Amino acid sequence: MSSWVVMKFGGTSVATVARWKTIAEEARRLVSANERPVIVCSALSGVSDGIETIIALVGDPKVQGAVEALEQQHLRLAEEMGIKNPIESELTELKNQVQGASLIGEVSPRLHARLMSLGERMSTKLGAAYLNSLGVNVQWVDARDHLRSLPEANASTERQFLSAECDFEADPTMQQALECAPGAIITQGFIARNGDGDTVLLGRGGSDTSAAYFAAKLNAVRCEIWTDVPGMFTADPRHVPTARVLRSLDYDEAQEIATMGAKVLHPRAIPPCKSASIPIVIRCTPRPELNGTVIHSRGLGNEAGVKAISARKGVMLISMETVGMWQTVGFLADAFAVFKRLG
Ligand code: ASP
Ligand code: MG
Repeated sequence: MSSWVVMKFGGTSVATVARWKTIAEEARRLVSANERPVIVCSALSGVSDGIETIIALVGDPKVQGAVEALEQQHLRLAEEMGIKNPIESELTELKNQVQGASLIGEVSPRLHARLMSLGERMSTKLGAAYLNSLGVNVQWVDARDHLRSLPEANASTERQFLSAECDFEADPTMQQALECAPGAIITQGFIARNGDGDTVLLGRGGSDTSAAYFAAKLNAVRCEIWTDVPGMFTADPRHVPTARVLRSLDYDEAQEIATMGAKVLHPRAIPPCKSASIPIVIRCTPRPELNGTVIHSRGLGNEAGVKAISARKGVMLISMETVGMWQTVGFLADAFAVFKRLG
């Protein structure tokens, strides 16, 4: 059985050749230590926002320019990597689907998910071609063949397609399938399939969650989240200059910090690793020599009781009471409609 290590790289960590060189070095280091890397990637930085802009512009002539900008961003990176364009079929798919949607004049949640998935599919195609050109043996795997979303009886179509969740039980079928592929694996964050075989998304920022699902399903030894900051901090360093990186946290502490708004780790990524006792390590792609933050089970250290302070601005508490509310459907929707009208 292989010792799997999931390494997730966010948008800024996959956007330049310099960052990909670090990915190559880290993958090589793991392989020489007899570990097997599963490299989970986000779309290039700005690309998911760019695709959302394209979706919003469908039917407007400006959509053409937005599609071209996206194409150029990827082709520029391919050129800097010195590789032949490996994303021709994805670019054709993007153009065809945008054209089709322009004719109908709308983008359904199903098509929205499919269009967004192109970001991660393109970044991983580029990465696979580049790593192989550097002599790092890597297999491109479609994450949708391995992550299946859970049906949610009462969820809206938007939620089912754009913010789905998957199970995270150990998965011997996945373990066997990946065991057969030689070398490192490269795959996409953010995307999965539903029971009908349609592409679904795991919510914005969902690549961390994908990494955690892969780690839990493969029973990995570690889930590394590579980002552009050195770890989780005791406070927001933009507001508190003396804030420092936390070396070690337990799962519940990390869950609280992530849920309270630290952007370093998506809060949905913690439960799959916690349930399988897989350590999560936050690493910094521009500074790979740093140790980062390790998130693991309690009892491994005797650190300070209070770990971090978070602040939230613009939070309002509204207390409402009404008579005759028992079993009234849509009460909160009506209440919020008033606020929406007020802008
Ligand atoms: N690319 C997706 C997003 O920007 C997923 C991710 O990067 O985590 O939301
Ligand atoms: Mg993120």
